[in-house]
Amino acid sequence: MSESIQLSVVVPLYNEEESLPRLIEWIDEVLSVHSYHYEVVLVDDGSSDKSWEIVCDLRRKYAFVRGIRFQRNYGKAAALNEGFKAAGGDVVITMDADLQDSPEEIPELYRMITEEQFDLVSGWKKKRYDSFHKRFPSKFYNGITRMVSGIKLHDFNCGLKAYRLQVVKSIEVYGEMHRYIPLIAKKAGFRKIGEKVVQHRKREFGEPKYESFSRGIKGILDLISLTFMHRFGKRPMHVFGFGGSLLFIIGFLIFLWLAIAKFVLNQYGMTDRPLFYFGLLCMVIGTQLFIAGFLGEMITRSAADRNKYLILERKGWDEE
Ligand code: UDP
Ligand code: MG
Repeated sequence: MSESIQLSVVVPLYNEEESLPRLIEWIDEVLSVHSYHYEVVLVDDGSSDKSWEIVCDLRRKYAFVRGIRFQRNYGKAAALNEGFKAAGGDVVITMDADLQDSPEEIPELYRMITEEQFDLVSGWKKKRYDSFHKRFPSKFYNGITRMVSGIKLHDFNCGLKAYRLQVVKSIEVYGEMHRYIPLIAKKAGFRKIGEKVVQHRKREFGEPKYESFSRGIKGILDLISLTFMHRFGKRPMHVFGFGGSLLFIIGFLIFLWLAIAKFVLNQYGMTDRPLFYFGLLCMVIGTQLFIAGFLGEMITRSAADRNKYLILERKGWDEE
């Protein structure tokens, strides 16, 4: 394509046959009045209904539509990740396919990225049209995520978000990590993260795909592993090795004391005292932690991305 794309809208979809035509029509209505050069990347996450045929129909009708189809259902994060790889616009906007997010928000989100220089702008469904058993866990875990990440967002999981192209090209989302993209982006060094109140609507067609209870638990586990990976992922020995050595030394000192008590002070036998078992435990667990750290270190050493850095600028190369 000769002209470079300014805006990519990435839409993950799973069994959304009824919503798709209206969604694309609506996006077209909103964007055609602006002069953007845009594309809409529809990622069919292994739908079992007619979604893909509809994507193909839409492609015939609208030149800005592009489609990617998965062999099976991999989940929203995978769909987003693939959409991010394919996207070419300076600004990338993600939205759900179920018509709960409104395309009317796109121009303002685009403006916030291009003019206000945000790296990422997250939608905030201030007034939500979901059931209570969905809203409540969501509040709870937005609170936790806010605390752990230090990012002041109200609605981490909002499907409607806008990114600078560089952001989506430098992050990877997998598993259920789509809820933590702001956190992943922050850890990749993109600090200007903003928020915009967006309209939310009732789901008209199809079924919600996420069940809220298991969602909450998995969400917390993902948060723990993300934080942990960021802190220690690249240097496991620092945490395991340190903890392990410390425990081992404590155990050793206990044994030393028990030995002195027995042989020098001629007190009762070593194994008679509860302290003996505590010392033993410390030494065994300490050794195990140390080995875990060492194994972790060996794994990070052979990891393909061990020397992958994001370079912002270079001076002295490729200059005119
Ligand atoms: N989705 C997907 N793969 C899945 C589940 C959902 O691509 O395995 C899409 C779905 O089609 C929708 C978006 O992700 O476009 C959000 O899903 P849903 O509306 O069920 O979630 P909620 O609005 O409840 O957060
Ligand atoms: Mg939805």
